[in-house]
Amino acid sequence: MLLQSAFMSAHGLSGSCQQFFKELLPLQQYNSWIKPLVFEVDGNRLILTAPNSFTLRIIQERFLSEISKRAAPFFQAPPEIELRIEKRAPQKQTLKNDNDPILPKKEVSIAASIKPTKIINKLNAQLTFETFVTGKANQLAHAAGLQVAETPGMTYNPLFIYGGVGLGKTHLLQSIGNLVAKENPQAKISYIHATNYISGVVKAFQTKNFDEFKQHYNSLDLLLIDDIQFIADKPGTQQEFFYTLNSLIDTHKQVVITCDTFPKEITGIEPRLTSRFTCGLTVAIEPPGLEMRVAILLQKSAQSSAPISEDVAFFIAKHVRSNIRELEGALNRIEAYARFHKRPITIELAKEALRDLLAAQNKQVTIENIQKTVADFYRLKMVDLLSKKRTRAIARPRQIAMSLARELTQLSLPEIGNAFGGRDHTTVLHACKTIESLRNTDNVIEADFNLLHQTLRG
Ligand code: ADP
Ligand code: MG
Repeated sequence: MLLQSAFMSAHGLSGSCQQFFKELLPLQQYNSWIKPLVFEVDGNRLILTAPNSFTLRIIQERFLSEISKRAAPFFQAPPEIELRIEKRAPQKQTLKNDNDPILPKKEVSIAASIKPTKIINKLNAQLTFETFVTGKANQLAHAAGLQVAETPGMTYNPLFIYGGVGLGKTHLLQSIGNLVAKENPQAKISYIHATNYISGVVKAFQTKNFDEFKQHYNSLDLLLIDDIQFIADKPGTQQEFFYTLNSLIDTHKQVVITCDTFPKEITGIEPRLTSRFTCGLTVAIEPPGLEMRVAILLQKSAQSSAPISEDVAFFIAKHVRSNIRELEGALNRIEAYARFHKRPITIELAKEALRDLLAAQNKQVTIENIQKTVADFYRLKMVDLLSKKRTRAIARPRQIAMSLARELTQLSLPEIGNAFGGRDHTTVLHACKTIESLRNTDNVIEADFNLLHQTLRG
């Protein structure tokens, strides 16, 4: 029991800190410093394990006081914080990876266990059509997926499913695999993420096992390839995939592909390949509307020991709008919080469990706010800031404002460009790069930027 609560509080605390810093820091910083941290709770001690001494130092200098503030509610008394460095594998075990001798043990064993051409991937039995909630946002993709799974190779080939992160592409892809496997246990099915496909190609090159690699793919009945956008700018992989795709389609073997964008919009992929992507059927998965988000929450929670009420589901769905993965994350957090505090799940409890997320939403910065703050700061008129004038005194603040908008809002480059008098997204990108490099060389710009950043974050 004790062990479980230590685990729960470490889990809750880790979730709360991760979420907090994820929203606070630029993604790259979050990924480098906070994401790899492991949280453990032992009595009144919080143990933080960092992957190396450098990360540890950064944590100590920059983030420790904030972490300790966030940790306090999870302990009876202010906790003692211990910092540790992850233990490395003994030298012998790293030999197979001696090009990277500091790889932690975990990764070494995973890396070492992947054989060059053995790429058949197990399907995840949880991801099935039964657990896939449908609604307006994914109806078409669902129907096409079902059709393909029932008559593989006979209708749409390839089936190309695209949509943003966390909207259910992988779930649908796996559902197709699971259904085909159920109806036809002999079928040779491979689910593979594009990044693993790429490493497969690289390894086949290195080990000169290309024939085996090709043969593996050509012998499949169903190829499910996830997140194809990752093969952008990898001409060798693209060429190989082009042949595989043609060979499978020509022999009426089903191929299903997922991607984060519409095929013609992926940059860095050969046109002959993108045009092959669209020769079957291309379907989108859109972000779910409110009712569908509620339905998903109710379905997920129905499997737990204490299902949530519709009121609570509506409350979560209203506040978590971005995607289904985040919706699940919020639900897990609420369930963990309720278990930890031994309380039933009510709206009140949901509010408490999600307080960081709700607070972050409240202080979300708008682009108008950024423009106004920057204009005030540099004593410019808004019209000038948004104009096409290119004098340094106006152009530089404008670039700063664009780069702040990139960091502090969820807007895309074209959306930011639009908000700045209809500029092209490449102009915004250029502005962000310019400011990023100036911040390293020009102290005044760096100080201005930080001050504005702080002011806007409140
Ligand atoms: P993507 O691959 O598009 O990034 P995933 O397929 O990984 O998204 O989905 C994210 C999470 O949301 C997964 O846990 C998945 O099971 C769940 N999910 C996505 N779509 C649905 C759906 N329509 N019904 C139920 N759960 C879903
Ligand atoms: Mg996915």
